Amino acid sequence: MSGGSTSFDGVERRGLMFVLSSPSGAGKTTLTRLLIDRMPDLQLSVSATTRPMRPGEVDGKDYMFVDKPRFETMAKSNELLEWAIVFDNRYGTPRAPVEAALSAGNDVLFDIDWQGTQQLREKARADVVSVFILPPSAADLEKRLHTRAQDSDEVIRGRMSRASHEMSHWAEYDYIVINHNVEEAYSEVQSILKAERLKRERRTGLTSFVRGLQQELEG
Ligand code: 5GP
Repeated sequence: MSGGSTSFDGVERRGLMFVLSSPSGAGKTTLTRLLIDRMPDLQLSVSATTRPMRPGEVDGKDYMFVDKPRFETMAKSNELLEWAIVFDNRYGTPRAPVEAALSAGNDVLFDIDWQGTQQLREKARADVVSVFILPPSAADLEKRLHTRAQDSDEVIRGRMSRASHEMSHWAEYDYIVINHNVEEAYSEVQSILKAERLKRERRTGLTSFVRGLQQELEG
């Protein structure tokens, strides 16, 4: 048998928009960090926000911290792909880095709420894959919010009451992961991403790849 020259290397893929949402305290931030550290070709979308910086957060890495007038300008001048008000603060996804990553063939990871997910879905339904992370119990969620201890009691109470409202949107998501244990939940989220990357409609170069294989096989 003669060796063919058609190989997998030339098979291109359209970048996807991978959204993780959950109520605060369900472990989404940890899962996001693990995905970015461990998955190749996946870039985090760094949101702009008007909320105050928490201890340990880095401007430009965790969020772009901006004031309200700056945020309004970004929203009005179409610099944001989506934006929403969450816990009285504004959060939005800067458009340019997402478009650059997708056109370079990378996937983009979004840590955004259900309002932002709806907006992305309206704009790019075929490219959006959404995952909702649930806590295993209410007690677990409350414990995580307290352990994080970066917010005041009043803020934590607010987040608890918002959690149930957030959860009411679970059925709008493509996949649901229950975070009993971080490594297990990570492995489930990773499996979703891997499978979605293999979907036929995202394998833009497959037609010519298969044609090349056929030509070689048929001599
Ligand atoms: P936190 O203040 O705890 O970092 O985030 C609060 C909520 O805002 C989380 O549910 C987070 O997913 C959401 N969020 C963060 N960035 C964005 C964004 O750019 N757009 C939207 N719609 N939600 C965001």
